[in-house]
Amino acid sequence: RPAIDMRRISKRFQRVSGSTTVAIDEVSLSVAPGELVAVVGPSGCGKTTLLRCLAGLERPDEGEIHIDGKAVFDSARRKFTPPERREIGMMFQSYALWPHMTVAQNVGYPLRCRGVSGRQTAARVSAILATVGLAGLENEPPNRLSGGQQQRVALARSLVAEPSVVLFDEPLSNVDARVREELRLELVQIHTKLGFSGLYVTHDQEDAMEVCDRLVVLKGGRIEQIGTPAEVYRAPRTTYVAEFVGMVNRVGVSAAAYEGSSVLLTSDLGRLVAAEQPATDAADPATDTTTGAASGSADGELTALIRPEHVRLAAGQAPPEGAANSWPGTVAFSLFRGSWMQYLVRIGDVELSVLSADHSLRPGTAVVVSVAPEHVMVRSAR
Ligand code: ADP
Ligand code: MG
Repeated sequence: RPAIDMRRISKRFQRVSGSTTVAIDEVSLSVAPGELVAVVGPSGCGKTTLLRCLAGLERPDEGEIHIDGKAVFDSARRKFTPPERREIGMMFQSYALWPHMTVAQNVGYPLRCRGVSGRQTAARVSAILATVGLAGLENEPPNRLSGGQQQRVALARSLVAEPSVVLFDEPLSNVDARVREELRLELVQIHTKLGFSGLYVTHDQEDAMEVCDRLVVLKGGRIEQIGTPAEVYRAPRTTYVAEFVGMVNRVGVSAAAYEGSSVLLTSDLGRLVAAEQPATDAADPATDTTTGAASGSADGELTALIRPEHVRLAAGQAPPEGAANSWPGTVAFSLFRGSWMQYLVRIGDVELSVLSADHSLRPGTAVVVSVAPEHVMVRSAR
């Protein structure tokens, strides 16, 4: 039985002007015990509202929510369990620590609310502080701690009551890049150790891919795709998803025709061959998790999507005779990115971003650019 089970949840807000915003639009999602699922999407797509509905801080207009098999919301039966009786841990972007309380008092607060004894609270607070790497800081006021440490206090507070479900709302977006990577790694370890289930909202794709077992991409309050990070990255259903998880080159494609098992496209690069058929939007995002490509032909404008790491560069002027997806190009500029170089390569008036381990190419160098047909994804341009 799933730890979290949301069925056709909708939430609308009334604006002061009288118009209605549909923040969550018939979202169904289930999270297995011990699973951490990332929710990603741009600002305003409904991520926070989704978490608030789960926590009981917002009342959905329609649908059902079950936590550990128990209904905490059911619109048809008018059932609504208040937040304090849902046994959910929450951690927000702002630490929301009380400045007049010590670290131990902040972390122990959820236990005191539940009437746990002072001695037991002290023991559990010390244990969870050790888990998050803050042993010995019990009596400090939170404002004496660094941003990263304050975020650990907030994490400890969300976990101290041992909730089976923990919700994270952009927990790392207020700390600087180095601390963020450190905390991200620790969060993965703590999750493995404690085994809670949860949703992890982030607008940071690295967060989402590294921390979570599965990824949900939201668009305008609806689920656009669900899958493991690798599935969503390798087979995005739509251009929107492809652009949200990782860098991607877009090439406008004007026509599609089939030849054998591949598609020939007329694009700004001339002839472009893709191994798969263009995807349509007909597939159900909730069930279609394994492949972005669906059968049938797509109508309307198409875009070829090519990840920068799939573009190959070789020194030289002329592509081999008859090779598919090979063009003469010029390195326009290069960016040093440590173990990788990022190049911008010009082929006529098309520019492609390329990630390469070859650090030797200088701007102005003539190169042969190639992309294997299996790395050309064809999607509706929308
Ligand atoms: P995200 O967390 O992805 O940025 P939110 O869930 O905060 O998105 O917001 C989703 C949509 O709902 C937005 O259009 C936002 O303006 C609207 N919204 C959220 N909360 C309220 C509210 N309390 N009253 C009115 N509109 C709201
Ligand atoms: Mg938000």
